Amino acid sequence: MLELSTPVQYVKGVGPRIGEVLAGKGIHTVGDLLHYLPFRYEDRLNPRGISELRPGEMATVVGEIRNSGLFRTRSIPIFQLTVGQGRARLRCLWFNATYLRDKFIPGQMIALYGKVEEDQRSRELQIVQPQFEILGDSGGSGESGAEKKAAESLEIGRIVPIYEAIGKLTPRWFRRAIRTALDNLTPELADPIPAAVRAHLGLISPRAALWNAHWPEPGESFEDLQSSRTPAHIRMIFDELFFVELGLELKRRQQKAQTGIAFRLDDRARAAIKKILPFHPTPAQKRVLKEIAADMEKPYPMRRLLQGDVGSGKTIVAFEAAIIAIENGCQVALMAPTEILAQQHYFSARRLLENAGYRIVLLTGSLESDRKREVRRHISQGNAQLVIGTHALLEEKVEFDKLGLVIVDEQHRFGVLQRLKLMRKSGDGEDSRRASLGRTGEGARPDTNLHPQTDSEPAEPDVLVMTATPIPRTLALTLYGDLDLSVLDELPPGRTPIATHCVADDQSPRVWEFVRKQVAAGHQAYVVYPVIAESEESELKAAIKMYRELSGKIFADLKVGLLHGRLDPKLKEQVMRMFQRGELQILVATTVIEVGVDVPNATVMVIEHAERFGLAQLHQLRGRIGRGGAKSYCILMTGGKVGEEGQRRLDAMVKTNDGFKIAELDLELRGPGEFFGTRQAGLPSFRVANLIRDAKLLEAAKREAAAVIAGPNAEISAEEISRALVHMRARWQHTYGLVEVG
Ligand code: ADP
Ligand code: MG
Repeated sequence: MLELSTPVQYVKGVGPRIGEVLAGKGIHTVGDLLHYLPFRYEDRLNPRGISELRPGEMATVVGEIRNSGLFRTRSIPIFQLTVGQGRARLRCLWFNATYLRDKFIPGQMIALYGKVEEDQRSRELQIVQPQFEILGDSGGSGESGAEKKAAESLEIGRIVPIYEAIGKLTPRWFRRAIRTALDNLTPELADPIPAAVRAHLGLISPRAALWNAHWPEPGESFEDLQSSRTPAHIRMIFDELFFVELGLELKRRQQKAQTGIAFRLDDRARAAIKKILPFHPTPAQKRVLKEIAADMEKPYPMRRLLQGDVGSGKTIVAFEAAIIAIENGCQVALMAPTEILAQQHYFSARRLLENAGYRIVLLTGSLESDRKREVRRHISQGNAQLVIGTHALLEEKVEFDKLGLVIVDEQHRFGVLQRLKLMRKSGDGEDSRRASLGRTGEGARPDTNLHPQTDSEPAEPDVLVMTATPIPRTLALTLYGDLDLSVLDELPPGRTPIATHCVADDQSPRVWEFVRKQVAAGHQAYVVYPVIAESEESELKAAIKMYRELSGKIFADLKVGLLHGRLDPKLKEQVMRMFQRGELQILVATTVIEVGVDVPNATVMVIEHAERFGLAQLHQLRGRIGRGGAKSYCILMTGGKVGEEGQRRLDAMVKTNDGFKIAELDLELRGPGEFFGTRQAGLPSFRVANLIRDAKLLEAAKREAAAVIAGPNAEISAEEISRALVHMRARWQHTYGLVEVG
């Protein structure tokens, strides 16, 4: 008998070699294989009669191969296949498909799937480029007649699952392997979801779900199957979401049970804040600060996400929060994803806070080691009140004297794991480890972790995470399910919306002329090149070459600077500062300026090869302009042919400045796995759930998980909760890898 945890190679017909191929796609166990769901289904129980086909419909047709052949037209070779059902015939066409030449033998049965069309001239029905499967040809050799027959029955006369092929493993191979796995699956599949939760959602058993998702009952709604809305699909999707949410809920609860610092927001602190403000905060900024301050006053640690579009003014809110902590005698760490951004924060912090007497230090990787050591000493002795840096702050050697608040800027650049690591920074090693999920050997007594000991536990610092990418709600629920949310939904006053245009790069003379005019009017401009991975030598060369062209020829009379990730940090800083002070009029840059850079006088952003950038990245880049009162322009230049998806990105940019709309579309185009590069960062990568499609189920899962964690009660017993937690820990550990929810 197979268990869900049995290595997949023990399924008959798999073995070590294929096992390795599957492992490459994340399929390690029988359970993984059974969660490899069909991406569509074919109704070969009621395949369409050729005579009833209608133009425009997607149809499955099962028929007999009559004849096939290649014929050449003026332009391209076309392969034609004729399939018959009695007297009715259907033509199929493939363009440029010489490889099909010897594929079809008359008399074989074939299943076809595709869009039915009417030939313009002959008015006959045809399917162009259908997907197909030759039936009854088992592909393997040496099989007995009985095996062959059994295999055939998986292909016709039923609703047939269609799997995405993996290398040489065809949809048919998956049908057989998965069928074999199901046939040999242990009958005792425990249901780790509490009965009350099952009842609320009308969930079917795990076993029935696995069977029916792959081999639907004949009466199953075809529409529900295709849209993953059958009871089997819903059970599997909910299952996946529920245990993620359970982990996050538990973590949230553990955080609230920890000892934090109850900061005091008294008149003195209020006055201190007022003193540093260079402008009147917007109502949104006021509201958000209130939310943050209320958290900080609580005796347990703050875990808050501040979400605000580029330019919405998060920095000043962060400084305000920092002052509350400092006025309470604590240190503050502000972490930025790049050196440039860390430096920029450092300069604005000094500009705003140093006059008020606060002591600020900068700690980045590029500091000389002597200087680093000195800065570290300032930090450990408590001299430094506000510590600004990059992930260098994560290094073990940095010890704080009394860290009270951690601010993480532009969170989307950081992985979830890094965030967790930073949260653990302040002396809570042992306790958070005891309270963490997914540790081996803890499964037996999961409920003891609900309430970590509170005596002798050092206080946890508050954590404020800031992100410029507006996160669609569904994603926020999972990615940041453990955080409370504040939203800056208002831009500072006096901004005019950025005008965005998209032009082909043969228009560049006009673009440069426009840049020249803006500079003549006293403004500054960015010209950005796609060096997306700074390791790409050739891309970097292209950027440097264009810089020479712009600085030496096109704008020979203007002051043009160059900024890229490989420059010496000192030089980087110098260039950035010159641009900030207006000593450079044009800054040619790679994506290093993507995040957070703030030069309000810059009104033009030219992005070359814009089609190569991701949507979120384009929006971030554009966020560098439109920061002052003057009208700003973003010009997306395209080089060469733009693909369909690239065009959708560009269109979205031209159409809207709304970060939320852009984020939603980005999520749709890229899928949640890549949205934040979250795979490496430890976001659970879902096997069957889809955060866009399954938003409702996700909310239900969150609700139910919260109720379970709050239990036991009349509905949910302690045993059920404990069983669910054991299962959840195993899941986090095995499925979601190294993620430690502590
Ligand atoms: P982001 O949210 O992208 O980090 P910043 O904090 O860099 O945005 O703010 C963008 C710009 O808006 C900065 O130049 C900042 O000084 C300015 N700003 C922020 N809040 C206000 C306000 N309430 N009134 C006027 N200008 C503001
Ligand atoms: Mg910022």
